[in-house]
Amino acid sequence: LEDSIGLDPGYKELIPFANKIRSQHEKIIMAAKSRQDFTANVSHELKTPLTAISGYAELIENKMVPANQEVYFAKQIRENANRLLNLINDIIRLSELDHTKIHSDFVSLHLLEEAKEVCSTLQINAQKKNVSLVCYGSDEVILSNKELLKELISNLVQNAIQYNNENGKVVVHIYNENGAVLSVKDNGIGIPKNVQNRVFERFYRVDKSRSRQTGGTGLGLAIVKHIVEIHDAHIELISEEGKGCEIIVRF
Ligand code: ADP
Repeated sequence: LEDSIGLDPGYKELIPFANKIRSQHEKIIMAAKSRQDFTANVSHELKTPLTAISGYAELIENKMVPANQEVYFAKQIRENANRLLNLINDIIRLSELDHTKIHSDFVSLHLLEEAKEVCSTLQINAQKKNVSLVCYGSDEVILSNKELLKELISNLVQNAIQYNNENGKVVVHIYNENGAVLSVKDNGIGIPKNVQNRVFERFYRVDKSRSRQTGGTGLGLAIVKHIVEIHDAHIELISEEGKGCEIIVRF
């Protein structure tokens, strides 16, 4: 179509259609590419813990466990099985969210109340790391679904605790700025500038080994992004490596 327009100026009125077709085509190609990447990543991510489980079990079966190492072997098997379970749960959740485009079950909810409930559940995780967790702000009412909203806040607060230092701080702040805003801010390890736009990709982690140690799947922020989209909301990330991270959701 673009070629025809170039050849004959009479086709000028078709330019907007040509542009629309091109941008739709690009979107389809990108979606197909991201589906391909996702499938490849899923197989890789599932195979890693399964191979470890199978390897440790084989050594036990063949009585090849070094003296006094039984407990260590059992621990490795349990940790890899947990990792597999977390991965499967998150993959299923993402696939459910892929089919949740409509928000017909949305009701009026008090954002601060929901955030406080999430924080009181996660207080124990914070205490284990000596991280202080506070939640405050104004009473903002938004249209949402309780389960989805809590999942969104919980994923952000869990990360803020997990990627924090001992004696760190996490602040959950609700306020109004042309609409309800949720901010989750920590003073932890932060995210380097050059990868900040990648952390919302499925399975992307800044530090694979750290995320693995803490039981991360690399899918938390992809789930968050999905939930934000279902709300027609916007998400913003502000971070400086070594200083902390703030994630802002504008409803
Ligand atoms: P994970 O399960 O690995 O935590 P997420 O999708 O939740 O996966 O996050 C992707 C990556 O983004 C994490 O592995 C981590 O490297 C980085 N990240 C997320 N939140 C924070 C944070 N608050 N501070 C520093 N890094 C973070």
